[in-house]
Amino acid sequence: MNASALPLIAIDGPSGVGKSTTARRVAARLGWEYLDTGAMYRAAALALHRSSTQLDDPEALEALLAGLDLEQRGTRIYLRGEDVSEAIRTQEVTRLVTPVSANARVREVLVDQQRRIGQRGQWVVDGRDIGTVVFTQACCKVFLTASPEARAHRRFLELEAKGQSPDFEDVLTDLNRRDKADSTRAVAPLRQAEDAVALDSSEMSLDQVVEWIVARHLAHR
Ligand code: C5P
Repeated sequence: MNASALPLIAIDGPSGVGKSTTARRVAARLGWEYLDTGAMYRAAALALHRSSTQLDDPEALEALLAGLDLEQRGTRIYLRGEDVSEAIRTQEVTRLVTPVSANARVREVLVDQQRRIGQRGQWVVDGRDIGTVVFTQACCKVFLTASPEARAHRRFLELEAKGQSPDFEDVLTDLNRRDKADSTRAVAPLRQAEDAVALDSSEMSLDQVVEWIVARHLAHR
């Protein structure tokens, strides 16, 4: 490992590829902490929605961001002390988060918080811009991908397991919409960092992906 590199694993990639589950498992294997930055953008979107704050009202947005008290404890996320872990996973928040995460000021505030949390290292952080913007000095960067169909299939099974009756085409359309929005936005678009290694997990199990990342990290320390 390069002496100036931060001992932190950045896992970026498109929606529905299993980054959060993978990152959580990799962190558990290494005895490191895990940070879900997508949950932070989701909680910000929920806070904006609840207070009817408009992104194009700079003063109201600034006031909201100043009072945005987010905390991740284990796998739960808290907004001003309230556990919003379920509330941020609804389809409505999934739709609302796209414009919120494309806002430069929102990103500035959340990236600042993410850097403060992970600065000492020993974190596994997942998102869209972790290797390209937030922790460019991370020692290990993985760009996790899978075909849209494989990702939609995984999401479909996940929703079914939650007792929902999803429509496969709807799930696929939503993933494609989010991919397009995340990769074409002006600020911090989703892309592979030059020094990231790409891993196509379409044909891999979760266990295989976790083992691959842990082995790569240990080999490159
Ligand atoms: O990962 P997850 O799907 O929970 O992320 C929710 C949304 O937050 C994504 O659709 C993406 O637009 C945004 N996001 C982001 N940058 C990150 C993490 C998530 O823009 N680092």
